[in-house]
Amino acid sequence: MGHFALGYVFGKLTAQATKTKMNIPLILTLSVIPDIDILIPYVEHRGPFHSIIMAIIIFIPIFVLYRKSASPYLIALIQHSLIGDYIAGGQVQLLWPLTSQPFGIEISIRSTTNITLEWLLFIAAAIVMVKTKDTHAILQSHNSNLILAIPTFTVLLPTFLAFPLAVPIALIPPHIIFLILFLTSLLIDVRKIGCQALNKSGRKVCQWNLKGKVQ
Ligand SMILES: [Zn+2]
Repeated sequence: MGHFALGYVFGKLTAQATKTKMNIPLILTLSVIPDIDILIPYVEHRGPFHSIIMAIIIFIPIFVLYRKSASPYLIALIQHSLIGDYIAGGQVQLLWPLTSQPFGIEISIRSTTNITLEWLLFIAAAIVMVKTKDTHAILQSHNSNLILAIPTFTVLLPTFLAFPLAVPIALIPPHIIFLILFLTSLLIDVRKIGCQALNKSGRKVCQWNLKGKVQ
């Protein structure tokens, strides 16, 4: 899925440029969050939730609070509409509420151009993720993993449940890899929480060592 890959790569570059740290589950979630508008009644898809102006307004208080640390997150959020949706799959209301004029070059999701671009992005993101040990980080138990439930259940899983499939067959493998990564990350954290709850109730079903691993 191009949005995750682009959001991750741009977030990573911004974090490096601003010398800030980024939370990977949060970056990945923000990269697709505008598409939650598909699930909200009476809200136009690729409308207000995809507006760059709205994204910047929402981020003003976040910048006041967190200063430059907020930059990777804003970039991850706006690249969704400004790059991914602008290029492929239709047009997008980038400047709502100033104008509801849609923008975009409307390359078909099923076109060879889009499929090639998405694969290249996926490979680039995968290389950076493995090289910087971010895949390792995302598979450690941490409560922030739970936020991945949002993209998993609102965007990733529904694409597989749609019939006919909205995603071209050639792009199913990267989708499945992201899905497995997200579900594993979620399960690792759910398991930790379950363990802690059971241990609290006095049943020593599983123990946690200092590194937070199940023994
Ligand atoms: Zn979108």
